Amino acid sequence: MATTNITGIKGFNDILPDEVGKWQLVESVVRRILSAFGFHEIRIPILEKTELFARGIGETTDIVEKEMYTFEDRNRQLVTLRPEATASVVRAFIEHGLHLRPTVRKLYTIGPMFRHERPQKGRYRQFHQINVEAFGIEAPMIDAEVIYALVTFLEELHVADVEVHLNSLGCPRCRPPFRQRLEEFLAGVDHLLCDDCKRRRLTNPLRVMDCKVSHCREVLAGAPRMLDFLGDDCREHFQAVQDHLTDLQVSFTLDPSMVRGLDYYTRTAFEVLARHLGAQNAVGGGGRYDGLMKAMGGPDLPGVGFAIGMERLIMLLGEAFHRPSYGSLCFLACLGAEARRRGFRLLQEMRRNQVPAEMDYEEGSLKAQLRKADRMEATHVVILGEEELARGKAILRSMETKVQEDIPLDAIVERLTALLPTPPTQEPGRPAKTKLLWEI
Ligand code: AMP
Repeated sequence: MATTNITGIKGFNDILPDEVGKWQLVESVVRRILSAFGFHEIRIPILEKTELFARGIGETTDIVEKEMYTFEDRNRQLVTLRPEATASVVRAFIEHGLHLRPTVRKLYTIGPMFRHERPQKGRYRQFHQINVEAFGIEAPMIDAEVIYALVTFLEELHVADVEVHLNSLGCPRCRPPFRQRLEEFLAGVDHLLCDDCKRRRLTNPLRVMDCKVSHCREVLAGAPRMLDFLGDDCREHFQAVQDHLTDLQVSFTLDPSMVRGLDYYTRTAFEVLARHLGAQNAVGGGGRYDGLMKAMGGPDLPGVGFAIGMERLIMLLGEAFHRPSYGSLCFLACLGAEARRRGFRLLQEMRRNQVPAEMDYEEGSLKAQLRKADRMEATHVVILGEEELARGKAILRSMETKVQEDIPLDAIVERLTALLPTPPTQEPGRPAKTKLLWEI
């Protein structure tokens, strides 16, 4: 029978071991920074009922209209692979009554999202986001704070050449007059718009402002601006957001054409654009969504948040990020059956004590084992032969200095721990050193 290779699905990427270091770095920096900013991690499912997104994102958005992975499960329930996280976080927040616990109103989550878009550089069908949401605070300080957290995060990762674009989308009170003027304007220029815009003009006119087609952009340059329609409250709020950002020395550009893709945004909207990314240049974006929680059946709590696209962020790390060497590695070269058995135990002890270690699981000559140690870029080699075993010792050799020392077998782990730098991250609540095998 002929066999063909099964390949991955278009737009769904593998993240190979060479790349994973960057992902881990991003995740650990984001966790550190967000926890300093008072955000708690929440993990939400990948699959939700379709109606959650239809209601939470908006029926007439691109995402809901054409991009969702929706199917019937075996119980004929309509389910969707999440295209974004906010609707799910809000659902979980309401479902578990988190508003009753004032300490968990600032949440973040990291994970894959799914959108059936046309794949291209920086745009995939499965991609990953870091999502940050702060509920229950109306004050403009929190808008500035989430933007500041995002900027701090990019700075920590040495991602330069990014611009914060800022707009206000007003609120349900000041948007209708704007919408009406926009509809009138769009009706007048309909013949100049692309087919998508012609359709959106009737279903969701605000989205027309977001069109990236260049001749639409030219036409839209003359469109009315939401900023000119803000009511007093919204204008003051927006001004205060800008003042706080200025105080925090975050530079930003006012961008009246930026409307963001989702229906639920109110007031502050922002995007972080990177000059180096080409067509798909938005690294992250977010804004305020004061009516969403209530619209989804929860308490009337305002919200503000953002999403960062991890693939795009990692593309930006490229130059700034030097692949860390695999760090220290101890290679155990064992000769003879007895030494190999003892060495295998020693290998596991090293690992339990945070000393990265490897050995050759197949019997081989010392020369072959040392060649392997070299290929693996081992920083240290422990040589354990029958003779060393009889003396209860092993030879520890530094591959850098070539210096060798005789060390008692039961002191090797301690010696290596002292020689090797401590691993950068310690899992919370774990002691730095675990017990040796014979102590257990
Ligand atoms: P959005 O939820 O559309 O505002 O997206 C937030 C961020 O997620 C964007 O700024 C991108 O960095 C990233 N993103 C959105 N869609 C995709 C996609 N199809 N592929 C890769 N990244 C994406």
